[in-house]
This record gives sequence, structure tokens and C-alpha cells, in this order.
Amino acid sequence: MNRQWLLAARPEGSVKPSDFRWQESSLPELAQGQILVRVIYLSLDPTNRIWMNAADSYLPALPLGEVMRGGAIGEVMQSRNPGFAEGDLVQGLLGWQQYCVSDGKGLGKLPKGLPIPFTAFFGLLGHIGLTAYFGLLDVGKPQPGETLVVSAAAGAVGSLVGQIGKIQGCRVVGIAGSDEKCRWIKDQLGLDAVINYKTEPLPASLQRHCTKGIDIYFDNVGGATLEAVLNLINLRARIVVCGMISQYNAARPAPGPANLANLIKERARMEGFLCTDYSDRAEECFTQLIQWLMAGKIRYRVDVVDGLENAPAALNKLFDGSNAGKLLVKVGPEPGPLRAV
Ligand code: NDP
Repeated sequence: MNRQWLLAARPEGSVKPSDFRWQESSLPELAQGQILVRVIYLSLDPTNRIWMNAADSYLPALPLGEVMRGGAIGEVMQSRNPGFAEGDLVQGLLGWQQYCVSDGKGLGKLPKGLPIPFTAFFGLLGHIGLTAYFGLLDVGKPQPGETLVVSAAAGAVGSLVGQIGKIQGCRVVGIAGSDEKCRWIKDQLGLDAVINYKTEPLPASLQRHCTKGIDIYFDNVGGATLEAVLNLINLRARIVVCGMISQYNAARPAPGPANLANLIKERARMEGFLCTDYSDRAEECFTQLIQWLMAGKIRYRVDVVDGLENAPAALNKLFDGSNAGKLLVKVGPEPGPLRAV
């Protein structure tokens, strides 16, 4: 039997249980060229909310009635595809389901023998690592001594950005939504200053912590935070437009920042990017991230929700800020020691 979450309705505002439909069905026989993958961890991402909309994004809109789209890691249980063997561990858009029948296109095999926990394939590596590493280094181009501000700084992407910024010699100011998150990024990750935007006035706190202005802003949230940062940017500042989570549940787009003209005055640059732009440089990124992890220079944390049935409710943790690190759903047991090729 397979168990799946289908997209049942286009959400208005926050995601509701009725936006999904639970389906149980028997598994089909594999056709030539297909593989059967058992999902182990499902990645919950802010972009899941974007994929539920009727409009196309950087991927085509998901039709109603389809299995909810989602990145996942799984184990090949059966193969009628010469490119995959039973026991291979694969990563890709396996969907919100217990088993995925796939032709293997778009699936990557996980490397073997890495001295990291299984959950690190999402917490540190995968799309999260690509986003933080190349977003900061390639788009943000940090220089020693510069001031870097990062929002959603205790989240999956943001927590890596802050630490990579420190490794590059920046002064890093993190913005996060709880005292616990602020303590973690300051005391455990070594950020220079933190702002709890839910309890402190953001413009005044930014001014207090960024006395030399802001050279790089790694934007995960958009909205009022972006506007507050724009008031403090330095000459030739770089704003890395990674995500705008504060807007994803909005019924209609919010008006843009009133002070965008500061970009002209400061000859500053705002640049968006997608982690998939850097897929062909993944090895370079993952090698460096693992080295930093082994050297104790970076840390990550994962927030694992048990059970596929809990995926819809868990998605809202990303929007109310109750996730502590990379949000994952454990769909099935981890395999033994990694034996992927
Ligand atoms: P996180 O682990 O950072 O979780 C999301 C966090 O966003 C929450 O914990 C919450 O933290 C914060 N948040 C939620 N709502 C708001 C709001 N209204 N205002 C301010 N902060 C809010 O998620 P990810 O690391 O997976 O993603 C972070 C960002 O990166 C997202 O915008 C995502 O879309 C983007 N992204 C972009 C990619 C790309 O290729 N460009 C790839 C991957 C992610 P807090 O408690 O601090 O409020």
C-alpha cells in the first residue's frame, strides 16, 4: 500500500488541513525503466507554499489532485532501470508520499561513506547548503571586515549564512524571531550581534548594531525587514534576494519598499538567485561544508517531525517560526550504514 498527500485546494493565507487530501492505494507493478523508492525523510520548505498556488513559479504550478510536490531522500526498493540498484539512496522530488514510482529522471544518488548523519543531507548539504554557500559567496561577495546582516538567521539557510559570513571575516548581525533562536546563533554559532525582531524595534536595533552601515544583506524574509535594511546600506552594498517568506501567505503582493531609491544613492545591487543555478558546482560546495563541519567551524540543527500524516500541520511551523533548524518529516526508518554509490 502507498500513503500519499494530494493537493486538494489552493490555500488562501496559511495552509489548512483541507488544502490536502490523504489517499491510500495499492502500489502499481513497475514498468520497464521504473524504480520504486521508499521515502525516508521529506524536506519541508517555504517554497512548498509557493508550489501550492495556481500560478507558475520557477517550476510549473502543481495541478490539483496531484501528489504534493516535495524534496525527499529515499531508498530504492525495486528497480527495472539499469541506472539504479536495490539499496541505492536517492534524493529528488519524490513527493509527499510513502513510496514513489519514478523513471529516475531528476534523482541524484547520495555519495557513500560520508562521516555525517543521514539528516545532514538536508540540514547541511543538498539545496540548503547550495543556497547558503553560493548565495553568500557568489552573489553577496563578502569581504573581511564588512557588515553582513542575515534574516531568518536561526533557520536552515540563515544559520549557515551567518557562520560562513564569520568564516569570511565579516561582522555578522542575525535577525530571528525568538530569544531561544537569538541565544543559539550568538552563543553557539558565534554571530556578533542578534536582534529579536518580534520584541525589539527593528530599525533602531539595526542602527545600534550596524554602526558602520550594512555592506551585505542576505534577505530570507522581504517585507518590513528589507525596508529597514535599505535605510542603512553602504556604498556598493549587495542585497542577496534569497527568499521572501513574509510574503508567501499574502493574498496579493505587498507594495515594494518605499526606500528602494537608496539603491541609486548608494550604487547598490539587489540580486536574486536560485540554488539550482549552482547544481553543477555542488561538489565544490559540499566538500567545503563538510570540511568546515569536521573542523568544528559550522553547526546545523534539524527539526524532525515524525510521520507522513503530520506533514500538512508541520508545514506551518516554517511560517509561525516554531521550527528549530531544517524542518524534516521522518516518513520511514533510516537504512543501515550508508551503502549508496
Ligand atoms: P527556515 O528554516 O529559515 O524557516 C523559515 C523561517 O522564516 C521561520 O523559522 C521564521 O523564523 C522565519 N519567518 C517566517 N515567517 C516570517 C515573517 N513573516 N517575517 C520574518 N520571518 C519569518 O527556512 P529555510 O532556511 O528553508 O528558508 C529560508 C528562506 O530561504 C525562505 O525565504 C526560502 O524561500 C528561501 N530559500 C531560497 C532558495 C533559493 O534558491 N533562492 C532555496 C531555499 C530556501 P523566525 O522565528 O526567525 O521568524
